[in-house]
Amino acid sequence: MSIFEYKKNVMKKNVKIISSLLVVLALGFLVAGANKKQAIKKPKNIILLIGDGMGLSQVSASYFFKDTAPNFDRFTTVGLIKTSAEGDLVCDSAASATAYATGISTYNGAIGVDLQKNPAPTILEKIIPMNISTGIITTSSVMHATPACFYAHAASRRSYQDIAAFLPTSKIDFIAGGGTEFLDKNKREDKRDLIREFEDNGYEVQTKGLPKKTTDKKQAIFLADDGMDKMLEGRGDFLPNATKMALDKLSTNENGFFLMVEGAQIDWGGHDNDTDYLITELLDFDKSIGVALDFAAKNPETLVLVTADHETGGFTLSADNGDYNKIKPTFSTGGHSATMVPIFAKGPGENNFGGIFNNTALFEKMMKFFN
Ligand code: MG
Ligand code: ZN
Repeated sequence: MSIFEYKKNVMKKNVKIISSLLVVLALGFLVAGANKKQAIKKPKNIILLIGDGMGLSQVSASYFFKDTAPNFDRFTTVGLIKTSAEGDLVCDSAASATAYATGISTYNGAIGVDLQKNPAPTILEKIIPMNISTGIITTSSVMHATPACFYAHAASRRSYQDIAAFLPTSKIDFIAGGGTEFLDKNKREDKRDLIREFEDNGYEVQTKGLPKKTTDKKQAIFLADDGMDKMLEGRGDFLPNATKMALDKLSTNENGFFLMVEGAQIDWGGHDNDTDYLITELLDFDKSIGVALDFAAKNPETLVLVTADHETGGFTLSADNGDYNKIKPTFSTGGHSATMVPIFAKGPGENNFGGIFNNTALFEKMMKFFN
């Protein structure tokens, strides 16, 4: 039995909210084109939050299983992204994040490489030379597929040691997640000491916990051997707190910044067909969305984007045995599905993100603001 007991009153209240989500989704397409009132046309800062495996049913679950309105409610533009990979209808996190980070459509398992396995330049590699600050935060290891595609190039997502070797010279200003086992000279096949290489390249490295405050140096924070703990195992507020810390640090650059924040384990809850795992990770991600939106409210040159890479679990909010007043979260697969994923946008330029588009278009839409 789920720890998220169905509550009749909450449900009734939320029926209104969920129908308004659907209305927003429908109207998003109309409103997106008409919304020309914004004073600032072009964002200086982009915060891209990726809920790995977060399809529309997962987003909908936040309306049924959170006591207050989820932060998804604060967005004013909604669109849909088609998620297929090159050669496969159903996408994995590597092909999807490569599409988002480089604009190319590639095969499942590819980390920042095209069909011929040639490196494709990533958004970070393009904007770092423009003196724009960058950050990557995840609840998986930093070397896992989604974050890896933003800074590394590898033919296989499983080449964690090779992927890790891109980090010390990446010039990313703020890095936080798991992955110490891929940095450790005693665990690496090539015996390279990547912690030392980080320090040689001007990083302050933390492996004990989130530091109390930011420094002037670039910061790399690794708080687990591989993936971070689950929320159910007591991860606490790592994701929202790291997001807040990154925003404090990156916003000191007058040229602007790009921050990618991943809720990686929404996907893992989906693979495990574990509703409690999925929903606790989803609500943690929602809290981090709140941090991003609060920052943007005070820093109006900021565009906040929330999307997913694909859907996981074939998750659905079924009626419980025909009882239309009771929801029984249900899964149809232990893998991914081909369903479109929502994208939520708020801030200058948000009206570029309504409608339906391919995963590769997200890169082009974001890059346009940095050119
Ligand atoms: Mg991921
Ligand atoms: Zn997955």
